Amino acid sequence: MAVQEEEVALERMEIKLYNTLSRSLETFTPLKDGVVSMYHCGPTVYDYAHIGNLRAYVFADILRRTFEYNKFSVKQVVNITDVGHLVTDGDDGEDKMTKALKREGKPLSLEAMREVATFYFERFTDDLKSLNIETPHEFPRASDHIAGDIEIIEKLQEKGIAYTTSDGVYFDISKFPAYGKLGNISLESLKDGSRVAVNPEKKSPADFALWKFDATLGWDAPWGKGFPGWHIECSAMSREFLGQPFDIHTGGIDHIPVHHNNEIAQSEAAYDAPLAHYWMHGAFVTMNDGKMAKSAGGFVTLKTLEDDMVSPLAYRYWLLTAHYRSPVNFTLEAVRGAQNALIKLMTAVSNLPEGGTLVAGYGERFRASINNDLGMSQAIALIWELLKDTAVADTDKRTTILNFDRVLGLKLGSLAPVEEEKVPEEIQALADAREEARKAKEWEKADALRIEIENRGYVVMDTAGGIKILSK
Ligand code: AMP
Ligand code: ZN
Repeated sequence: MAVQEEEVALERMEIKLYNTLSRSLETFTPLKDGVVSMYHCGPTVYDYAHIGNLRAYVFADILRRTFEYNKFSVKQVVNITDVGHLVTDGDDGEDKMTKALKREGKPLSLEAMREVATFYFERFTDDLKSLNIETPHEFPRASDHIAGDIEIIEKLQEKGIAYTTSDGVYFDISKFPAYGKLGNISLESLKDGSRVAVNPEKKSPADFALWKFDATLGWDAPWGKGFPGWHIECSAMSREFLGQPFDIHTGGIDHIPVHHNNEIAQSEAAYDAPLAHYWMHGAFVTMNDGKMAKSAGGFVTLKTLEDDMVSPLAYRYWLLTAHYRSPVNFTLEAVRGAQNALIKLMTAVSNLPEGGTLVAGYGERFRASINNDLGMSQAIALIWELLKDTAVADTDKRTTILNFDRVLGLKLGSLAPVEEEKVPEEIQALADAREEARKAKEWEKADALRIEIENRGYVVMDTAGGIKILSK
């Protein structure tokens, strides 16, 4: 262990990251030496997260782990949107949380909204744990930070950048000439896009809501009761927890044209300082080559994957075999293939004896891969190469792989496949009962059995060669 720590404490190496703002690979320079502040747009907690949403947080996690591996101290914020996100990214359509209240037959009240949001927030944190994603340092909920929204809107009003109409307070984009700089978005494309509904009271069709009036549901504000726009929430929460500017802001690519350009416009116009220095965006998970979206229904969750005996860690492995900026098309077969590979890897690691040291040459190559815009697929390939390398002692292989797993987060040292004849009888019985329940499509029962198996320290995965039981 001591040797391992020593090796990682080498000189801090250069980290290159793709910055959407400059549309180029840049060498990362933090605002404060040795410290990284990051804000990741979090989920709208009106439903379960689908596996596409979760890719955004696996990406944030490998970014954090890469910095930590390079001995940076990281402060990471993931917000929870529990109010204000409309079904479109623009200013019209129903509020997603209101939609959830109706779906679940709950009253239209802030209390009921909070309750529904809390339920899905907890499911989201369960998902993060299953994917071995490090818990962010802060999880602010938008509904707890309304005062911060109001403060920025008041500032914008004072500066003459916001104006009031009969249905809300709007940002006047003519006052922010740099509007659209992220991703080089042209105003024309926004006007033609779906986000801009005809609203004769707006000065420009591309102006966006900072606050929407609602006489029955919402919070009191100087200009009238209602609720904040989705974009202002991120400006307020990032400012409160990280200050302005902070280092890195991330999200999925869908956030570039509207949400992130709006965050930039509000924060930069209000405080005459950049919002964040680096903007990073993760590509989408598609299904049948189409977009996977909560609003489209029929999406895949970690739970549905687990019903198909695919472990969340196998999904994580599968994601890491592609670069975060490459779109990936989900198929069960592809993720099952990743699961086979992961089990093989876990088997190999569990057969390696303890007690070695980090192999310097491999360590350097690993760092070069991850520090080159998070090259995780190269890092995984390197592990396979190392396993085959007959010039390296088995003990050193183990130590080196476990060192790399601090970034990959695949639990390579803590899960080990159990030989069939060594599986305890009661675990085998539970696994068989689960199989029966699955065949009978009794999903709740199958799920309860899975949890029971996990509580006893085992994990069951389906592979090409049949069911495999792993122990923790
Ligand atoms: P939402 O809950 O809709 O606010 O989205 C949460 C996060 O998931 C955001 O960073 C989105 O950009 C991201 N996201 C949404 N759909 C997908 C998808 N199909 N693949 C990857 N990321 C997605
Ligand atoms: Zn955001």
